[in-house]
Amino acid sequence: MTRTVTNWAGNITYAAKELHRPRTLDALRSLVAGSGRVRVLGSGHSFNEIAEPGPDGTLLSIADLPPVCDVDTQARTVRVSGGVRYAELARRVHGHGLALSNMASLPHISVAGSVATGTHGSGVANGSLASVVREVEIVTADGSTVTIARGDERFDGAVTSLGALGVVVSLTLDLEPAFQVEQHVFTELPLAGLDFETVAASAYSVSLFTDWRRPGFRQVWLKRRTDQPRHDVPWAAPATEAMHPVPGMPAVNCTEQFGVPGPWHERLPHFRAEFTPSSGAELQSEYLLPRSAAVEALHAIDAVRDTVAAVLQTCEVRTVAADAQWLSPAYGRDTVALHFTWVEDTAAVLPVVRRVEEALDPLGARPHWGKVFTTPAPVLRERYPRLGDFAALARSLDPEGVFTNVFVRDVLGG
Ligand SMILES: Cc1cc2nc3c(=O)[nH]c(=O)nc-3n(C[C@H](O)[C@H](O)[C@H](O)COP(=O)(O)OP(=O)(O)OC[C@H]3O[C@@H](n4cnc5c(N)ncnc54)[C@H](O)[C@@H]3O)c2cc1C
Repeated sequence: MTRTVTNWAGNITYAAKELHRPRTLDALRSLVAGSGRVRVLGSGHSFNEIAEPGPDGTLLSIADLPPVCDVDTQARTVRVSGGVRYAELARRVHGHGLALSNMASLPHISVAGSVATGTHGSGVANGSLASVVREVEIVTADGSTVTIARGDERFDGAVTSLGALGVVVSLTLDLEPAFQVEQHVFTELPLAGLDFETVAASAYSVSLFTDWRRPGFRQVWLKRRTDQPRHDVPWAAPATEAMHPVPGMPAVNCTEQFGVPGPWHERLPHFRAEFTPSSGAELQSEYLLPRSAAVEALHAIDAVRDTVAAVLQTCEVRTVAADAQWLSPAYGRDTVALHFTWVEDTAAVLPVVRRVEEALDPLGARPHWGKVFTTPAPVLRERYPRLGDFAALARSLDPEGVFTNVFVRDVLGG
């Protein structure tokens, strides 16, 4: 089947020769074994060429495979198909009185695609979404299946893997007992004198939002677990109306605010599961840095705030706990993440992205793998001490480079 496919934002049109949506695992195996070049497309929410197979390649979606979502209430785990989206996964898990520890801002992204790029939510003690993965089942280039579980020496390379190892057909994730969350929104937090550590640790998940039109933050979103102690927040005033992260946008699609307690999966994402945006008029970039450099990083952006504000819809600041995945942007360091939702004008946005990178590079910024960045490959490679181990793992599972593409080759330097 050949037809034009774009990503969710519409800024990337995949040049693939073919698009396939196998309906059975056997069909998927034969397809992979008979293909010279394959990339898997998840829900297409990345903003760059990470999923691009190239003009001679095959773009493969696993969305039509029979979905699996097997919850083991005794072991507190779920085995889920890679193509399932978090909204559906969360609904199923919650139905068994269990929970994922965290979610990203949008619940409509696929599980395999999200963990492949190091996607994260917020919280000083919360790792990226990949950190709850305990096992991945991968169809490799010869059509056979490899299962890599925690404890396997390859495991730390196998989850945040940029789609370079094979088709992740299922993942097993850790769960915990379901919990309730209250979402509170505050306004106008100054940058001058910011005690970032205190603010970031004041709730289970904390996000700061700004338009950088003036210093400081327009909004602070606190997601508090009702089973954890409350911290006072004397440093910002409570919002008097429901807020959207983008100033001026109606909050109707945002998860409930004003401290109304609700289940974890209806509060941890910023956006409601019932509202499924099929496309987006935006671009995104994000840079992950050591959390100890948060205030310095925020001042570095403040110094170029007029340039940034000119093409910005909103900027969000979150935290991610350190993890051990070799290609995770939070690898080995407690992290602060500076996210930028830009206007949808690539030509206007790219020079600003470069300006942001100049400001943040001295602090060791690692770009989000799924978003717009221009960080040169040699700089990227310096930022990942286990990159060589990942390249060796990719070679061992995929010696012919069937699952590689220009993006991955650049990163690995091969
Ligand atoms: C509105 C919006 C909100 C977002 N919010 C957040 C957020 O809160 N936090 C955050 O960190 N990021 C966020 N992102 C970024 C997003 O989470 C990542 O781009 C993520 O990779 C999207 O998952 P996907 O399934 O759409 O992946 P795709 O873009 O489809 O693919 C990404 C990569 O995963 C690979 N892949 C996908 N499925 C498989 C599979 N089954 N097997 C092997 N490889 C696979 C692809 O080959 C590709 O390399 C957001 C993006 C959007 C558009």
